[in-house]
Amino acid sequence: MGEGRKDLRGLEGLELANRIYEIGTLVHKEGSLDDVIKAIVQRVLEETDSDYVGIGLVDEAGEQVVHAWGVMRDGTWIQGQHSQAVGVGVTGTVVETGKPLYLEDVSTFESYYPLVEGIASEMAVPLKVGESIIGTLDIESRSQGKFSKTEMALLQLIATPVALAIHNSRLFQEERHRLRQLTLLNRVGSTITSTVELEELIQRIVDDLRQELGYEFVAMGLVDPDGKRLRLSAISTDMDVDLKVGHSQEPGEGVAGMVVSMGESVLIHDVSRFHNYVPTAKEVASEMCVPIKTGERVIGMLDAESRQTHAFDDSDLLVFETVADTIAQAVENARSLDLAERMREDLARMVIHDMRNPLTVVQTTLEYLEHSLETLAKNGHVTTSTGRNRRYIESAKASCEQLTVMINGLLELQRIEAGEMELELEPTKVSELVAGIVDSTAIVASAMQVDLLAKVESTTLEARIDRRLITRVLENLLANAMKYTPEGGSVMVEAGPVPVRVLEARLPNTASGILFSVRDTGRGIDPEDHERIFEKFAVVEVKADDRKRGVGLGLAFCRQAVLAHGGDIWVESAPGKGSAFSFVLPTGHGPTD
Ligand code: ADP
Repeated sequence: MGEGRKDLRGLEGLELANRIYEIGTLVHKEGSLDDVIKAIVQRVLEETDSDYVGIGLVDEAGEQVVHAWGVMRDGTWIQGQHSQAVGVGVTGTVVETGKPLYLEDVSTFESYYPLVEGIASEMAVPLKVGESIIGTLDIESRSQGKFSKTEMALLQLIATPVALAIHNSRLFQEERHRLRQLTLLNRVGSTITSTVELEELIQRIVDDLRQELGYEFVAMGLVDPDGKRLRLSAISTDMDVDLKVGHSQEPGEGVAGMVVSMGESVLIHDVSRFHNYVPTAKEVASEMCVPIKTGERVIGMLDAESRQTHAFDDSDLLVFETVADTIAQAVENARSLDLAERMREDLARMVIHDMRNPLTVVQTTLEYLEHSLETLAKNGHVTTSTGRNRRYIESAKASCEQLTVMINGLLELQRIEAGEMELELEPTKVSELVAGIVDSTAIVASAMQVDLLAKVESTTLEARIDRRLITRVLENLLANAMKYTPEGGSVMVEAGPVPVRVLEARLPNTASGILFSVRDTGRGIDPEDHERIFEKFAVVEVKADDRKRGVGLGLAFCRQAVLAHGGDIWVESAPGKGSAFSFVLPTGHGPTD
């Protein structure tokens, strides 16, 4: 027997009541409702000669007594096992009548529900705050007629402080919940004004809603532009659910679908009584869902679900509706930005494309002038300016040539970016690919007095790739390496299977791949430029090196071509330390397979 456990008589009973009263006042700041209830039942068990002590709480509708926590003599905790309609069973009867109930022999009670096996007698008192009954406290024993009037008096005595403790803890939790709601609204507002990507923003809001407000499931979905499907954009949950971002359903289907098609918020206190509920997870008991609207148009929904019935109230709904408005604004902004961006790209594409025609005219004119000059010279019309004119024409032709390469490069880059370029995947021997590129660069390398080396780990290594694109990627990387490496330096091209460590970091969902690297001993690149140089028109200014300024399309092309293969590309480099550009491609299959 526990030290504090004793028969309850006179003064001892009062002393116990006093101790219990302490619990009543002991709603510690951090103590959750669960902690308070557990502390109470534990204490009552220690202080009475019972085999089980439990507390039931009346639900918000006032229809059910929901078992909250109970503890058995052997220390086993029982939580939320059962709920009883008001008027039924021991606790249901106590709530209905508002009077204590003592069963010397539970088997005589018609609607007795055996929560714990082998119980023979039970005593239960209502927990009242003012006139309202918020739950029951009951003690149970395996022996018949175990409890006496003293226990009954005691239970009645402690019922009020216990009820108050529970009530205060609830108030405190509510207060904290309201405070969190406010903080959250504030934060959502400020996240939106910072420039984060829409998807990231939505995920962050959904995570925040769940964590801060203590919901078990929060999700957000957007209606497809054609209005045909509702698609999940973000989920945050600790429940075991099958749903994934990208899951789609018809507007009208389930609660979320219904909210989208009606454009009205829905608060469901108990999903088991709701005909249109499609279960997200077995344990979901209540749900709240609000539409995301711009004007009258519903563009999505925001949804929360809980394991508890009556988990959401009107103030939660208000918070969700406010957040939904903010999200609607962010989605609108992102969509109009997208549209502007697309229009800008289309325009750029048209302009670039149309530049080809005047350029061809200039090129043809230059050809014509060159030809005329030759004809004149052949006919003996050589003047002092003939040689100079020839050089002018040569230089103009070279510039046109450069411009043509640039325009074609831009058009091609735009095609890959727009996903319009079909990859022509074919089995390719890696060693042959590398050898071909190195051969064609060897002359340039020796002219620039740069050592060019190649190392391919296995001659049998093969990959299904778009040979033309990957050749151009390697050519670009090699040309850069040459360009930025001074005389006497060296450039090395390597290829081989991707080591496991790199595979995990760069191609986490792939079993194997090929790693290509182009290393040089050149000027190197500042780490803060490592990401930027892969963007279009990104050039790194190096004052002394102005001759070498390009337009900054090479690496942008390389990245797009590698991404189109489902691969990844990156650089390791530091100023003065040379650079190593590497890329990995998954083997055997492209992203479309
Ligand atoms: P471009 O060479 O036409 O400027 P790229 O997209 O190929 O365009 O390269 C972008 C920038 O990256 C270059 O301006 C250069 O500053 C830097 N860069 C690329 N390769 C190297 C390299 N091997 N060594 C040093 N800097 C490099």
